[in-house]
Amino acid sequence: MSGNGSAGGRPGGAVLPNQMTPAGRRRGREVMAAWRRDGTEPLRLDAYRPWPGAAEAAWYRPDDGRFTEPTEILAVEGLSLRFGGVQALREVALRARTGEVTGVIGPNGAGKSTLFNCLSGLLTPDAGRIVFDGAPLDGAPARRARRGLGRTFQTPRLFKSLSVLDNLLFGCETADWSGHRYVFDTRLGRLPHAERAAQIARLVGFRGDLSAPAGALPFGDLRTVELARALCGAPQLLMLDEPASGLDTDQAERFVGLMSSLASMGLAILLIEHDMALVMGLCRQITVLDFGQVIATGTPDEVQRDEAVIHAYLGRSAARA
Ligand code: ADP
Ligand code: MG
Repeated sequence: MSGNGSAGGRPGGAVLPNQMTPAGRRRGREVMAAWRRDGTEPLRLDAYRPWPGAAEAAWYRPDDGRFTEPTEILAVEGLSLRFGGVQALREVALRARTGEVTGVIGPNGAGKSTLFNCLSGLLTPDAGRIVFDGAPLDGAPARRARRGLGRTFQTPRLFKSLSVLDNLLFGCETADWSGHRYVFDTRLGRLPHAERAAQIARLVGFRGDLSAPAGALPFGDLRTVELARALCGAPQLLMLDEPASGLDTDQAERFVGLMSSLASMGLAILLIEHDMALVMGLCRQITVLDFGQVIATGTPDEVQRDEAVIHAYLGRSAARA
């Protein structure tokens, strides 16, 4: 079994997550070759580039010295939840740190979304402990959002009859309640809500009409606006449930650029994602779930070599073929 949660001897914070090194690209290509056998079309990591808002975002400075040493913001221990006959989570342990994208992967039905629902307060686990930012995490979803937990859903959830702007304003309310600063741009908190929302919409690459009803948006924009809403809430930890699924390659690549930039500004990101090339390219640490259990935790290199992980994915798809 791989990994003990350390960054594999890498000097902490010395490599920004959004800098793709030649070794990183090589690893991406290897991973893509391996995972192609699973039948998924991977992203082109060579085309890794900033999202469209980068040029106009004053805070986008990839070499900026504001990147600080990662600190643990989330620690989950022994999380279990049963639905009738299905043990959806069994003693799950997970950690996330600021300034890093932490991956949560696993085959369909492994319990990934259930884990997020337990963290965000939509489900109550049967057992387990969640410590967030130094204190136990409990209460209703809104309370957890005010603690600094932002999330998106596997199927985007917006108020469809409200305008895009109104959806974003809800997020801004959360930020004011919490008093948290915007990790990725501390000046945003001083702006009026509408201006703040418009800036964040631009940063995530939303180019549509802010006054349009959210229900009328094409799918890619739904994902983008949902991400903007989460960011409007000034999250300290951002949880994304398959954010690239349903996006075309171009949109997904921009999404990757945005995520790595946000992490490089110090945000903690927890990412559920099916696309292995994307996960391997972005994440410092990966936790692999299968049938509700953690079967591996470690760096991308460690988990992709892990026998149990290979079996959980490739073994199963080979059996299907
Ligand atoms: P993943 O996101 O990894 O694909 P899920 O967390 O959605 O997996 O589901 C894990 C398991 O729990 C699956 O077997 C699923 O059918 C079951 N499950 C998820 N939500 C519910 C629910 N609300 N009621 C009953 N079973 C559920
Ligand atoms: Mg899911």
